[in-house]
Amino acid sequence: MGLVRLVFICCFVFVYGENKHDGSIKHDDPMLNTETPNYKEYCVIGAGPGGLQIAYFLENAGRDYLVFEKDHMAGSFFQKYPIHRRLLSINKIFTGKTNKEFNMRHDWNSLISNDDSLKFGKYSKEFYPNADSLLEYLNDYATKLNLKVQYNSTMHDILKRKDGLFQMWDQHNNAYTCKYMIVATGVSEPIAPKFAGDHLIEGYENLSTNLSDYKGQSVFIFGRGNAANDVANFINGVTAVVHMLGRSPTRLA
Ligand SMILES: Cc1cc2nc3c(=O)[nH]c(=O)nc-3n(C[C@H](O)[C@H](O)[C@H](O)COP(=O)(O)OP(=O)(O)OC[C@H]3O[C@@H](n4cnc5c(N)ncnc54)[C@H](O)[C@@H]3O)c2cc1C
Repeated sequence: MGLVRLVFICCFVFVYGENKHDGSIKHDDPMLNTETPNYKEYCVIGAGPGGLQIAYFLENAGRDYLVFEKDHMAGSFFQKYPIHRRLLSINKIFTGKTNKEFNMRHDWNSLISNDDSLKFGKYSKEFYPNADSLLEYLNDYATKLNLKVQYNSTMHDILKRKDGLFQMWDQHNNAYTCKYMIVATGVSEPIAPKFAGDHLIEGYENLSTNLSDYKGQSVFIFGRGNAANDVANFINGVTAVVHMLGRSPTRLA
């Protein structure tokens, strides 16, 4: 490990593979049949907080929908991230107010629902909770509210057909057709900036979580978002100096 440890904090982009299909369908194509079980009026891809929240409203409105999740559980992002397992989103249980709207605005972790048992404060009392509590919460949210989530389904090649419907395939090449497509896949791929010395960079996703690796070191962090702050907070006590560089002012959630 060098004197200066460069930490690259991931910027993420959406990356979709190019569609292999051009959207053309034949008139006898079974995909035209909207009566099949593989037709849904609303398809939601991803069962993170975003996908679950929209599923809640679709469920309550009695819509024909299905959430497709590539992992075996909801909120899969939080299985690994933040890597130091301390959430950055505060769990403000005591606000001094009884107004539900006010309290919800100070609760950074709960999703909206009509079930009071699904308040995040019931899952953790810590101000900066462990990420495992959020994972548990999100999976309870999906189960208790009977949200329709199909797990282990990695969707690809999403396209809008010439008849206006959307089509996509899972990893087993089962095709699904939908009238409305909601993509809630969150973040995906890290972007590594190119510059002289970029071989010294370590990405957030591969960083050591062993504090002794940072003892007395000067650390330069590219980025000032969630990942950057997660690392800076963690290593601050043992490093000689931590520099953070962002292309824009810090924006809080
Ligand atoms: C380092 C870091 C730390 C963070 N810490 C916090 C924190 O402490 N508290 C907080 O509230 N927020 C935190 N955030 C922000 C939080 O992660 C996001 O705001 C939140 O996860 C966004 O939710 P989402 O549902 O849009 O996406 P995600 O949570 O990313 O969910 C997307 C889902 O889509 C699934 N998916 C992806 N592609 C496919 C596909 N092709 N087919 C099927 N499923 C697919 C994924 O498996 C995943 O479950 C942090 C972010 C980062 C980067």
